[in-house]
Amino acid sequence: MNISRSTYLYNRARNVIPSGVNSPVRAFKSVGGTPLFIKKASGSILTDEDDNEYIDLIASWGPMILGHANPKIAEAINNKVEYSTSFGAPTEIEIAIAELITKMAPNIDKIRMVNSGTEACMSAIRLARGYTGRDKFIKFDGCYHGHSDSFLIKAGSGASTFGVPNSPGVTKGTANDTLTARYNDLEDVARLLEENKGEVAAIILEPVCGNMGCVLPKEGFLEGIRELCDKYELLLIFDEVMTGFRLAQGGAQEYFGINADLVTYGKVIGGGMPVGAFGGREEIMNYLSPDGPVYQAGTLSGNPIAMIAGYTMLKELYQNPQIYEGLAEKTTYLAEGLERVFSESIYDYRINHIGSMINVFFVDVDVVDFDTASQNNSELFGKFFHAMLNRGVYLPPSPYESYFLANSLSYEQLDHIINATIESLARMK
Ligand code: PLP
Repeated sequence: MNISRSTYLYNRARNVIPSGVNSPVRAFKSVGGTPLFIKKASGSILTDEDDNEYIDLIASWGPMILGHANPKIAEAINNKVEYSTSFGAPTEIEIAIAELITKMAPNIDKIRMVNSGTEACMSAIRLARGYTGRDKFIKFDGCYHGHSDSFLIKAGSGASTFGVPNSPGVTKGTANDTLTARYNDLEDVARLLEENKGEVAAIILEPVCGNMGCVLPKEGFLEGIRELCDKYELLLIFDEVMTGFRLAQGGAQEYFGINADLVTYGKVIGGGMPVGAFGGREEIMNYLSPDGPVYQAGTLSGNPIAMIAGYTMLKELYQNPQIYEGLAEKTTYLAEGLERVFSESIYDYRINHIGSMINVFFVDVDVVDFDTASQNNSELFGKFFHAMLNRGVYLPPSPYESYFLANSLSYEQLDHIINATIESLARMK
């Protein structure tokens, strides 16, 4: 029997890689079936190992905001690579990217580069703890800040003061210092702060939560969080790993006009290379080692190839601010098209979108927090995912992930997505 090359590779991968993948969501567990193995991509078209082509709405989970194989980024990497791939010593390109970021993003006096969003978030929490001398922090149910221990906590019911680890391997001791609140619920946060007065170092949140599928902050929510941070004298950490350089040049801080004390970045900032970063006010960032007491380090941090890729990406966005308007227009066009199609279908749905992030939920409630996001009908979601895939549209294979639009998407491709949705919904039963 002939099997597809993706199936052959998946079977081979499972022998030597846990579940055949290097990051869980790639395994298609939520939607069933065999993950596609990708051979190459250009613009917004992915080509799998069987030479099938798909319009890409994942954009590598966010980084590829300009589309794949952007010629300027590819050229910059090629030119740099012959100078060696790593030195473990300072380089000028690290200064250039830091200077550019401090120009593009508000409230970033200083920034330190790391290798992933996880590293950025865990380092920001350590820094906040070191700076304030307090141990606990607040995160929101449904917000994802990477896979470091203290973030893998979901709210314990009732006395949600103390979190419960949601992965074996995360100790209760770690979980005790992570307090979890309901997204978009200021009262919940105020209650936690009152109950833990003087013990909370920071509140960390996704200003738009892409890890619940695309959940927007309610009016006044971010302002309220800022006020609570000021009142209880703790740090506000915006996790802008998804929203940074995507919602606007200055990310969610600029988009919503809210000042964070520390900001974490990833995804877009690396131009498709493994990069994260965290930055903020000088007096806080100066707490980092070696001049400050809070230790943080990385063998490959500021890697020259990653830095030139990220720098070229950010410079392109900086010099072409109209990209953001174009992306928002495309996203609104897609959202309105999907809205028309879904409103004529038999399915309950909600479509949330902002900037170049969008998601369709199979629900009959407004999606504003983790409880409502969890009502997404996973069976329908799986059917929709595969129906779209069969029609050449690659959606994120999880109901909890936002779609990310890239500037390379054409209106013709958006029309293809809308038409594929009409056909998919008609044949999904
Ligand atoms: N923070 C947010 C908001 C994310 O979406 C992610 C990853 O998806 C992370 C942190 C972790 O980033 P990484 O996967 O690069 O470790």
